[in-house]
Amino acid sequence: MNDIWNPWHGCRKLSPGCANCYVYRRDESIGKDASVVTKTGDYDLPMKKDRHGQYKLTADAGVIYTCMTSDFFLEEADEWRQGCWDMIRERSDLRFHIITKRIDRFEQCTPPDWGGGWEHVTICSTCEDQDRADYRLPIFLKLPVKHREVICEPMLGEIDMEKYLASGLIEHVTCGGESGSSARPCDFRWIQDVRRQCIRHAVPFYFKQTGAVFIKDGRTYRIERKMQMPQAKKSGYSYTPGTGCADSIVYRLPERAELFAELKKSGFRSRFHLSVKDREYVTEKGAETIRSHACDLVEKRLSAENPDNDGKQTPMKGHPVFLAQHATACCCRSCLEKWHHIPAGKVLNSEEQEYIVGVLMDWIAEEMKNV
Ligand code: SF4
Ligand SMILES: [Zn+2]
Repeated sequence: MNDIWNPWHGCRKLSPGCANCYVYRRDESIGKDASVVTKTGDYDLPMKKDRHGQYKLTADAGVIYTCMTSDFFLEEADEWRQGCWDMIRERSDLRFHIITKRIDRFEQCTPPDWGGGWEHVTICSTCEDQDRADYRLPIFLKLPVKHREVICEPMLGEIDMEKYLASGLIEHVTCGGESGSSARPCDFRWIQDVRRQCIRHAVPFYFKQTGAVFIKDGRTYRIERKMQMPQAKKSGYSYTPGTGCADSIVYRLPERAELFAELKKSGFRSRFHLSVKDREYVTEKGAETIRSHACDLVEKRLSAENPDNDGKQTPMKGHPVFLAQHATACCCRSCLEKWHHIPAGKVLNSEEQEYIVGVLMDWIAEEMKNV
């Protein structure tokens, strides 16, 4: 069980992610103005004790989510923040998570003895779209912080954070859609894309919630509030490296005829063909040998949970199977997920490997007919 500490309440909208801020929505529903920032009665919650003289917040509480109805680095709270740092320093037995959209104010807001950061404090920078990611994350990565997390919520578009993840400094990424009656849509492809980036860099990923308007396979779904988190959980798309968690993802392989029809429509995929040399090689070796090569290549280059060099592991020429892989989108785990729905982040089982080899061999057979 985690706990929440809200030392002050109310906030000022800052960026696109704030448009439908839940603090504003909740306050409006009770006739309150969320733009008025006030210190709360819980300001000193970490120091509060019960009648037995024990701290109310104990380490068993798990994480203390700090300042969830405002922003910890809000200008309006400058005079109250030092007191919070004093309490946080004192309660080093707790784990504090501070989520902010104002990471650019961090340095001017830290206490004098912050040094390289405090072990029990995790800073979470949110970035709802690419612009915010490209502004906030470079700042975030330079700050003296012991534990860093990124939160893309509400996720408003595709986000490429690969180069930031490559720093090795981001410990965790969370993605989710927006809730509320004016919620903006969240496309599952954006979630899958960030997840794949996390897999490539072995960073744990949490698909927290679908949001109220969720797009999957081009269809828009309205998800009621109470189902937004359970649906995300049910999808199995959260990821912890090396745990086999992606094995629980339920998916359906495409029909072969539909797949080949779709591949034909792709200018990129349909430009691949066997060369004269490739054809001679297939004729010389025979289909069974080529199939055994395909089995080996799929096993060695694609089947690991996080294959080495994923996205770049398949040469553009040199073996008929390589050509078949590009032509059929079996070249890397991203393409296997996008085209064949085989989730990234899992070890390919024998059925999946056989399916891929089958697709490759079908394509090669078709090419061999067209002499
Ligand atoms: S920073 Fe957070 S709390 Fe403040 S307005 Fe934006 S979404 Fe709301
Ligand atoms: Zn690929």
